[in-house]
Amino acid sequence: MAGKKFCTAVVLAAGQGKRMGAKVAKQYLEIAGRPLLYYSLRAFERSAFMDTVLLVVGDEQQRDYCRKEIADAYGLQKVDTIIVGGKERYDSVWHALCAIQGDMNVPAREGYVFIHDGARPVVTEEILQRCLTAAGQYGACAAAMPVKDTIKLADANGFSKETPRRDLLWAMQTPQVFSFGLIYRAYQKMMDTKAQWMAEGLHITDDAMVLEHFGEQNVKLVEGSYENIKVTTPEDLKIAQMFLEKSS
Ligand code: C5P
Repeated sequence: MAGKKFCTAVVLAAGQGKRMGAKVAKQYLEIAGRPLLYYSLRAFERSAFMDTVLLVVGDEQQRDYCRKEIADAYGLQKVDTIIVGGKERYDSVWHALCAIQGDMNVPAREGYVFIHDGARPVVTEEILQRCLTAAGQYGACAAAMPVKDTIKLADANGFSKETPRRDLLWAMQTPQVFSFGLIYRAYQKMMDTKAQWMAEGLHITDDAMVLEHFGEQNVKLVEGSYENIKVTTPEDLKIAQMFLEKSS
């Protein structure tokens, strides 16, 4: 592919998955005999344009497990680097961006980074492709879908307070894709000013939000899929299994 930029997938799997209520972190619960995390890694492995995968896990033990029991066991050759993440999702992303900046080759630092929740197993090549195209056009994009439900803003006592216009509301997904320099600089600014925004009560829950607050430009929303769910609670596991069976 002439002029194709280097593409690095950052797959996040350092969360504890407390809302799942299981003893094992949710990314290691099994769907059809394979750990949940395997399926998103497989999507990047099979992707025609993805060059490398940087996996972020919770601790050293998980690092060994993922290398032997997932990457090696299933022949995932693009999983080059496995690092340990941090306390919050944004800490894990920051560790990954620092690893790219410090340890990876120049093309990686001049290319695109696809930040993806390891808990979204049903990501497809079509979504990755749409994101690549939008990243080329805009430099920053994120998979998202229009919300179907009416969304309320509640007050502190749990009473409905306000109703944002539904036609402007999107449910954010991953991958969220950026020119590396753009996202690195925004994260650097965020980490440098952490004391200040924490005092202001800001909760950073995705990467697009980092660009909204600390970045140089806005993030284009790209069509994801209603099947690209984040497995969070036990019922999600069954739904994800159904979608994966349908697509295979
Ligand atoms: O907690 P949440 O569901 O938003 O997590 C989204 C993704 O981020 C999950 O794949 C989770 O494993 C990952 N994560 C992480 N490091 C953390 C917290 C979450 O890599 N400290």
